[in-house]
Amino acid sequence: MAEGWVRLLARADGLAQVARVEVPYVSLPAQMRRIKAELMAAIERVLEDGRYVLGPDVEEFEQRFADYVGTKYAVGVGNGTSALVLSLRSIGIGRGDEIITAPNSFVASAACSALLGATPVFVDVRETDMNIDPDLIENGITKRTRAIVPVHLAGHPAEMDALLAIAARHNIPVIEDAAQSVGSMYHGRRTGSMGLTGCFSLHPLKNLHAYGDAGVVTTNDESVYNWIMKARNHGLRTRDQAEFWSCNSRLDTIQAAILNVKLNYLDQWTNERRLLANQYRREMSQVVQVPEEAADCFHTYQTYVIKATRRTDLLDHLHALGVQATVHYPLPIHLQEAAQSLHLRKDDFPVASSLADRIVSLPLFPEMTVAQRTAVIEGVRSFYEC
Ligand SMILES: *Cc1c(COP(=O)(O)O)cnc(C)c1O
Repeated sequence: MAEGWVRLLARADGLAQVARVEVPYVSLPAQMRRIKAELMAAIERVLEDGRYVLGPDVEEFEQRFADYVGTKYAVGVGNGTSALVLSLRSIGIGRGDEIITAPNSFVASAACSALLGATPVFVDVRETDMNIDPDLIENGITKRTRAIVPVHLAGHPAEMDALLAIAARHNIPVIEDAAQSVGSMYHGRRTGSMGLTGCFSLHPLKNLHAYGDAGVVTTNDESVYNWIMKARNHGLRTRDQAEFWSCNSRLDTIQAAILNVKLNYLDQWTNERRLLANQYRREMSQVVQVPEEAADCFHTYQTYVIKATRRTDLLDHLHALGVQATVHYPLPIHLQEAAQSLHLRKDDFPVASSLADRIVSLPLFPEMTVAQRTAVIEGVRSFYEC
């Protein structure tokens, strides 16, 4: 008897091991392989051409990206943080100024203000879309408020109508942090087209990405456009004439050529993300709080964030199964060591602080196999169903 059982158990154990599916949080080479030949041709063309800095591919990308977002202009820059810093500098932000933003973002959303000597002023977010709460913005406005930087977190647009109305009433410019929301739409308009500028990161973990650091600023304002065009390139008006002190934050030609290839696929990849998000919603909403898409909004699911009870145990459970779920972001910006001098406490922003303890980012990328998708869904379901 014992022998038969042992053999059976060994077999079951073997099956369990076969059934285990490794699900990385993301697999960038998997996307690259879908278009590798085109990418290689584009890279080779730039290498042979020789114009490696501000070459023709940069201009082409800027034109096409502006068309995509629906703005008059776009300027390629070195990264998303630069896009924010240059936007704030273009309106003269400096010491003594206050900039309103959300506390539950990537640290760069607030660092861009602090880097210029200004003070980031946080306003709490809404439970539903996790974005800045328009009803609370006016509490944060003072005589020193010089800009509002809403973040379209995870790819879901912030409540822009209410936010833009408040900004207009107080005559304060809006700089959109659209780093996580390329392609997202709010009431028919793309994120990055509604504020004075839209700031995009093209970092490898963003939906449209370079193979290294890159970013882009969008705007309809001609003078802001002209200023940022110079500011990203040492403040140079011509090759030999510097109009003002500035930095070097240019988009590499080789990255622009890569981005020009990828722009042709962005909508297809976004739709694939949305299909997968719909499947997750259908198959997980009974057991856990899944992300909702607000009316007349188009979510691009840069991150697929569920709100979990027993978060630590859920993460342990998923990791034990091979599902590399993670958290964006476990420590809100106002509680970072970098923010110490602001003297803020956890309960100053109760919604953001509460969300930080409950959110889980699940793996979601178009190249996931059927087995990997099932592993994510079954991983979450099995945790809550037992
Ligand atoms: C990624 C990101 C940035 C910064 O972009 P980099 O290209 O890494 O400098 C800024 N804000 C948000 C919300 C981001 O997610």
